[in-house]
Amino acid sequence: MNSFFKFDKRIETASEKALEIAETQFGRIDEVTEYNQQKVISAFINNGVSESHFVSTTGYGYGDRGRETLDKIWAEVFGAEDALVRHNFTCGTHTLATALFGVLRPGDKMLSVTGTPYDTIHNVIGITGSEMGSLKDFGIVYDEVPLKDERLDYEAIKAAIDDSVTMVYIQRSRGYELRPSLLISEIERVVKIAKGKNPNVIVMVDNCYGEFVEKLEPTNVGADLIAGSLIKNAGGGIATTGGYIAGRHDLVEKCAYRLTTPGLGKEVGATLGMNRELYMGLFYAPHTVGEALKSAVYISALFCGFGYKTTPAYDAERGDIVQSLGLENPESLVAFCQGIQSGSPIDSFVSPEPWDMPGYDSKVVMAAGAFTMGSSIELSADAPIRRPYYAWIQGGLTFHSAKLCAMLAAQKMLDRGLLNV
Ligand SMILES: *Cc1c(COP(=O)(O)O)cnc(C)c1O
Repeated sequence: MNSFFKFDKRIETASEKALEIAETQFGRIDEVTEYNQQKVISAFINNGVSESHFVSTTGYGYGDRGRETLDKIWAEVFGAEDALVRHNFTCGTHTLATALFGVLRPGDKMLSVTGTPYDTIHNVIGITGSEMGSLKDFGIVYDEVPLKDERLDYEAIKAAIDDSVTMVYIQRSRGYELRPSLLISEIERVVKIAKGKNPNVIVMVDNCYGEFVEKLEPTNVGADLIAGSLIKNAGGGIATTGGYIAGRHDLVEKCAYRLTTPGLGKEVGATLGMNRELYMGLFYAPHTVGEALKSAVYISALFCGFGYKTTPAYDAERGDIVQSLGLENPESLVAFCQGIQSGSPIDSFVSPEPWDMPGYDSKVVMAAGAFTMGSSIELSADAPIRRPYYAWIQGGLTFHSAKLCAMLAAQKMLDRGLLNV
């Protein structure tokens, strides 16, 4: 190859083979990327974006054209009536919580149909924690329909929806589970079932990790409200913080009243010079997501070649950018994460070790060498040191940098006698 990095011949051969078997998937990913890139550019053109949209506002931020136009572009791209894109959203959880508190009222019922939601949402709903001001503290009822054999249980969902249900809640990504992510076609089927049973029901989707993975978004197939983080897919690796909500105009307006105050809503919010990076992030997002998907497919193919269980399989249909690898023992998880870290642009000299992370019942080892702290559209890997010893990997700003990290991870495992090649 070259003199920058040294690889065992067996790793190089395995890598070439992984690229070969991933080729068909890469073709599909390119097709989706091109479609989504054109969708984004046409929204920029339709809204006449110019340098004046990057002008910074301070104070109340009244009449910030950049902020207002970005909301319009976002709505167009996501096939929604309205959107709320703000750097003030501190993370995905905050954005999702704003949407939930924005539209639910005391006595309303939220029904999760993808089993128990992502960990950080538990305190928001009130599944765990008390006296924190959760939805439960405010008298909002929560119920869930568990998954069946890791998939949506359409019969049970149909049976659970009646006039008492205000919101059907769907999590598109697998998060830190081994279940498959949802495809847009599956989300569409839930929407049809839900509206068929109760036309007034609000279908909300946690869209984290799902943006631009397919040609359509949940809002294109009837979802009323979606939300996500800008340091994942939708920020394209450029946005340094923030979140977005998109959907029906009346619901987005309620979310804006929750983010700021009743009455003020979207009219306030100084952008402090953040507009340019949010525009640029959306411009890059389809491409960056394509790179992350190629990285995931390649890693899956490479480690499948080494004989490991990988989910999704390299040739599976994907609804998010998350990849997990069953590395079988603690030593391999640690070697893998250390190898990933060693090829990162930032903090390459750090060697991750398992630690007792608050909120986890086992030690966790993590690799992250990102330009934006905690960004998971940049390549990152983490693994709880417990059975069945899976590592979760997501992101990759550029395919070639992620490929390098994966090869270094395999080399590290080989050096320690942990890899069968
Ligand atoms: C990342 C993520 C969230 C929100 O997490 P933050 O770390 O607060 O951004 C919620 N749901 C899913 C499925 C996620 O992947």
